[in-house]
Amino acid sequence: MSNLTEAIREQARKILADKKIDLVIGYAEGDNPMRTQLVFIDKVEDIDKLVWPSFGLINLANYLLRYKNTPHKIGIVAKGCDSRSIVALLKENQIDRDRLYIIGVNCPGMLSRQVAREKVGEIITAEDKGDGNWKLTTVEGTKEISCFDLMPSNCVACRHHAPVISDVIVGDPVTEPEGDGYDDIREFEQKSPAERHECLKQEMANCIRCYACRQACPTCNCDECFVDVTQPKWVDKGVEPTDVAIWQLIRTYHQAGRCVDCGACEEACPAGVKLLWLTRKMNLVVRERFGFEAGVDPEALPPLATYKKEDPQEFIL
Ligand code: SF4
Ligand code: SF4
Ligand code: SF4
Repeated sequence: MSNLTEAIREQARKILADKKIDLVIGYAEGDNPMRTQLVFIDKVEDIDKLVWPSFGLINLANYLLRYKNTPHKIGIVAKGCDSRSIVALLKENQIDRDRLYIIGVNCPGMLSRQVAREKVGEIITAEDKGDGNWKLTTVEGTKEISCFDLMPSNCVACRHHAPVISDVIVGDPVTEPEGDGYDDIREFEQKSPAERHECLKQEMANCIRCYACRQACPTCNCDECFVDVTQPKWVDKGVEPTDVAIWQLIRTYHQAGRCVDCGACEEACPAGVKLLWLTRKMNLVVRERFGFEAGVDPEALPPLATYKKEDPQEFIL
């Protein structure tokens, strides 16, 4: 059992036994190590189901929304990005701080099933070698691959491993890397408009409009998503390229100043669409134009919820 698993269980056991909360939202083992599940625990005897996973690109803040209109007090395991989503939800009055107990985790980074699949193909079994490598077996054979090579782009780029809001923190602090973490997006920007268009067109051609990305995201939380509205109908169902483009672009715009780059959407996508290309570009624009990063400052209002006369607006004719 990892130290983080032990520390999370200890904190969760304490708050559940003391009746500070009614339930804890955390991670549990799935049917294989790459298929982490989320778990809702309301009995002390079930606490040992909680784990700290290697493949845990699930944003647990998403599941707080189930308790938006209930009286429950909730404990939640929150890595850096989850804690930023909690801040974003608090800012939008989606949840009450006084009904939360946040077990913050200094997150060492997660591994991605999507990245693993891209590197070796469809995986039958995965085994943690315990030496910084994973043994992945496919129909073609077995490969060993290092943890670093299994990290998703958002964790490589992450500058907020520590929770920004919490009631207790577990795990050793992580030294934040230099730079702002957007080198990959700046590199993409170097391509010509035609090359970028072609890349995005090819990527979006894989989208099957299943909306798993939407369901995985805590800030995709409109009561009725624009794609489900029929009067007026904003966009056709189906995968005609224009409709997919409208779906993807509007989803991305709706995330402006709200996306915390947790990678849960991209990890959930059954078609392996590189959604973070769009959201990370959007996050960079919001950062450069408005000096804002979603959920980093619990006191700051997001750009779409505030207005300053000096905001750049040269695009308004
Ligand atoms: S984005 Fe940061 S906080 Fe979130 S899982 Fe990756 S390393 Fe951890
Ligand atoms: S859009 Fe994706 S990366 Fe951004 S907060 Fe939602 S799930 Fe996380
Ligand atoms: S999860 Fe993937 S395939 Fe499904 S709607 Fe989102 S991008 Fe498209």
